[in-house]
Parts: sequence; structure tokens; C-alpha cells
Amino acid sequence: MAEHDWPAYWNAKHETLPKEALRRLQTIKLQRTVERAWHLSPFHRRLYEKAGVTPGKIKGFDDIRRLPFMTRENWMACQAAQPMFGDMLTRDPSEAIRYHLTSGTSGRQPLRVLDSRKDWSWVAEMWCYGFWGAGIRPEDRVFFAFSYGSFIGFWGAHYCCEKIGCLVLPSGNMTTEGRLKQLIEMRATVVCATPTYALRMGQEAANSGIDLAKEAAVRRLIVSGEPTVQATRKLLENMWGAKVCDNAGMTEIGSIMIFECDHQPGGTHIIEDHFIEEVIDPDTQEPVTMGERGERVVTSFGRGFIPLIRYRSRDLVKRIPHDRCDCGRTGDIYAGGILGRVDDMKCIRGTNVYPRAVETIIREHPQIEEFQILITREQGIRDEITVQIEMKAGGESEWPGLETRLCKDLAEAHEGLRFNLSLANQGDLPRFELKAKRLQDLRQQDNQ
Ligand SMILES: [Zn+2]
Repeated sequence: MAEHDWPAYWNAKHETLPKEALRRLQTIKLQRTVERAWHLSPFHRRLYEKAGVTPGKIKGFDDIRRLPFMTRENWMACQAAQPMFGDMLTRDPSEAIRYHLTSGTSGRQPLRVLDSRKDWSWVAEMWCYGFWGAGIRPEDRVFFAFSYGSFIGFWGAHYCCEKIGCLVLPSGNMTTEGRLKQLIEMRATVVCATPTYALRMGQEAANSGIDLAKEAAVRRLIVSGEPTVQATRKLLENMWGAKVCDNAGMTEIGSIMIFECDHQPGGTHIIEDHFIEEVIDPDTQEPVTMGERGERVVTSFGRGFIPLIRYRSRDLVKRIPHDRCDCGRTGDIYAGGILGRVDDMKCIRGTNVYPRAVETIIREHPQIEEFQILITREQGIRDEITVQIEMKAGGESEWPGLETRLCKDLAEAHEGLRFNLSLANQGDLPRFELKAKRLQDLRQQDNQ
């Protein structure tokens, strides 16, 4: 590949803007966004009138805290009262060019969104910040292991590649085997997938005797859609012989709001010129201090069709200052990206268990192919947590030793809580392409 002298940033001016200038820019954008929502979205008008706040009260950056939160619940209620989209659209639906929906992580009703041409151009622009930051350039060939369905997923990344000038290799309806064959044959240099699916492709390649690190030309794995724990990232980097760059977005935003640059600071930069990200204590709703774990609350300046102002994401994050990364970007960092969901935390006999923490321990053992966590209530009183483990083909003989080790490590990481472990047969545990659901809490069903 010819070496070009490409600039380091997608938007050099905004990505390196000093904090004070950044806050001024955000304040102006916030005022504009609130003003627009107030006049065009009856949903927002009701919310603000109830809270006794008018656009005129947003004078400085900190005034954002005067605004009430927008939640998934009040969004859903608004959609239910006025199908299909509620009364929060600021433009006539006929102006939309795309419809997407998400099942999300909780609730039965899908969340429905519409976007205009301008919105989609912004969506692609946000992904460009992330792709360029991850070191992707026009000469790259980008393979999308993505279904191209109604789930928004990597749609924006596809348009970002067209904007940057990369060669796009879509693989909507292909099998894992077909995808592997094509990405090797076409010398793809970038692969986009969920971390779980990137792992699955790597495992399937290994099972067929393919060494991706040698036989494929992939130099970057762009992972999105799920939290990526450190141990999984290491596994992926070894498997693929590529640098892993994490990012995260939401259907509610339509695009990504954070991305990991190729300096790999161990976290993701916030695109602060297009978003205001706050981190709050999910219970008290008060802001937490820098470096403390909390729920991210997002305000987006991009989507014109649906204003998103102080939206409770339910994502757990830990914010650290931008200068922990030496790339020069002034967007602060979420250490470890998205750490999980506020609602993911499970309480087992008084001990808090996060699926992500369990995954970290499991993934330290590359001989494990897949796993699942089951929570049950025995005789209606005693909660039990069981981790089912599926070994790689031929690895069953290592099970007794591994079982002892995992039991000890899991207990040590969880205040001595006893985890049950069981060995699953080859191919018994579910495999995931996106939004892996490796935890099943069966306690509620037991109560019914
Ligand atoms: Zn950086």
C-alpha cells in the first residue's frame, strides 16, 4: 500500500479545541437545540413546561442541569400514546429518508426513529471522526460483518467509508465461512463487527485451520455494539494480528458518540463538539466526579428529526481527562469504553455481579470457546449463579483443572461468592452475531 501523508485528525480544529472554547461551542449548540425542541416538538415542550424551564434560562454551559431528563420510558410512552413515532418529530415524516428501529436492551415495544438526508450526512460524519481516529484511510478495504437490516448497527460506518473513500465490502447475507473466505480473498484491511462476532469468526477460522494473523491482511478491527473487555481485546488482537479500536453508538443517536483513537489509551474519546456527555449517579441523579463510575447522559446536536437532550442512556461509564491520551484530542475519555448497563448489575446473595467482570475472568483462558451465565432461585429462596463453559474442540481434558481455577478466581473477585461451574457439550451454547445475551436471569420466571 502506498504511504500517504494524511492528516492525523478528521476535523483538526474541533478535535483539538481547548476546553474553554469547546464549552462555548457546546453552549451555543445547546441553546439552539433546546430552542428548536421547544418550538417544534410537543413532547419536549410538555417536559420543559412541567419542569418550569424555558429556552431563555439556558444561559451558560452549566444551565444544562436545569433541563429535565429524557428517558427511554417517556419516549416509549409518547410513542404508545401517538403511534408510530409520538409527537417528538420536528419535521414532517414525508421528509425522512430512512426508518430504523431497535429492540433495545429492555422493554417490549421497539423504539422507532426516522432521519432526514441531513441527519444521515451527520451520522456518517460522526463515524468519520472515529474511523479516521482509528487510523483508517482512503486506501483501506473495509469488510462489514453486519446484516444491513433494520438495526442501525454499522449503517453509518458504511456511509463514512464512502465519504473517506475506502472500498466497502458488504456481507449482509453471508455465512461466517463465506465471510472469512471473502475477507481473505479481497485482502480486507479493516473488519467491522461486534466483539463477540469478531471472536466467533476467529474461532471458526482456527477450527478450519486458517491463521488469520498470517493469511488475512486485516490491520484494524473496529468493534462496536457491546462492551469490549480487556481480555477479549487481547484475544482478538492475537487472533487477527490487528489493532482493535472500540467505539459505541446508540439507535437513539443514530451514530457513534465515542471512539478509540489508534493511540489506544484504553478508552474512547467523546466527540465533544457534537455531544454533551454528563455522568451521573443513577440513583441520586447528581453528577459524579471525574474518574467515578456512573450513568452517561447524552445530549446530541446532530439528529434534526428527533431532538435528544439529556437522555438517560443506562450505560455505565468512567470519565477520565483527555490528556490521558497523547494523541492531542481534547475530547475526554471513557476509560474502558462502555462498561456495561446500569440494569446489568445482578445481586446474588447480597453480592453485586456484573456480567462484564465475569467475562474478564473467563476470557483469560483461550481454551474456552463460549460461555453462559445462569441465575436461578432454588426452592424459591436461595439464589444460585452458574457459569456454563464450552471448551474448544479437544480441550475437555483440561476441564478439571480449569474448573478449580475458575471457581477460585470468580469467588475472589466477588467477595467469596460461590459460582457453580458446569461443562457444556460442544456447540450447545448459543452463538451471537450482535448484542450477545450471555446472562440469563431465571429468577423472575420462577416466581410466576
Ligand atoms: Zn487519543
